Amino acid sequence: MDYYSNQISRLIEELSCLPGIGSKSAARLAFHLIHMPLEDVDRLASTIVEAKRNVRYCKECCTLTDQEVCPICSNSKRDHKTIMVVENTRDLAAYEKTGKYSGVYHVLHGAISPMLGIGPEDIRLKELIGRLEGDVNEVIIATNSSLEGETTAMYISKLIKPAGIKVSRIASGVPVGGDLEYIDEVTLLRALEGRTEL
Ligand code: ZN
Repeated sequence: MDYYSNQISRLIEELSCLPGIGSKSAARLAFHLIHMPLEDVDRLASTIVEAKRNVRYCKECCTLTDQEVCPICSNSKRDHKTIMVVENTRDLAAYEKTGKYSGVYHVLHGAISPMLGIGPEDIRLKELIGRLEGDVNEVIIATNSSLEGETTAMYISKLIKPAGIKVSRIASGVPVGGDLEYIDEVTLLRALEGRTEL
């Protein structure tokens, strides 16, 4: 039975497609939106559409940005010879929050997962290899410590090593199976400082 009017039901349905939003949360959000002033809802809606339209991949590191080259890659004070490889832009943000990493990043947008049928060609690896033709001293692999993250780390290190570039992996301290974005800054920093060469 449809308890709500058609439009409210549709709103709830759309919201419940978002990750982490079940039907109860979707209903709560929908009624919250309905009770919000129209101008606030307008602003929220146009912010979503604008972000969707303008956000793209950085030409160098593939992170999500609204510029051609992201602020980190275009910062000449950063050490462009050290590249930290992360799975997604949220992990990049987690490391940026520590304020202690001065190198640049490379964002893969995923990890290799034979189980899910995600291969090396499905993530931004080709772009990483392309960058290594430039002047690079070290590649720090900071993928998650999940099975997929470890598989990806091994794959990358095998790929890079013949080029004679130093490859390191962030140390544990990051719990096995843990998502980087939920880890506190101190733990992340310790993992970075205690990285081991692969
Ligand atoms: Zn960038």
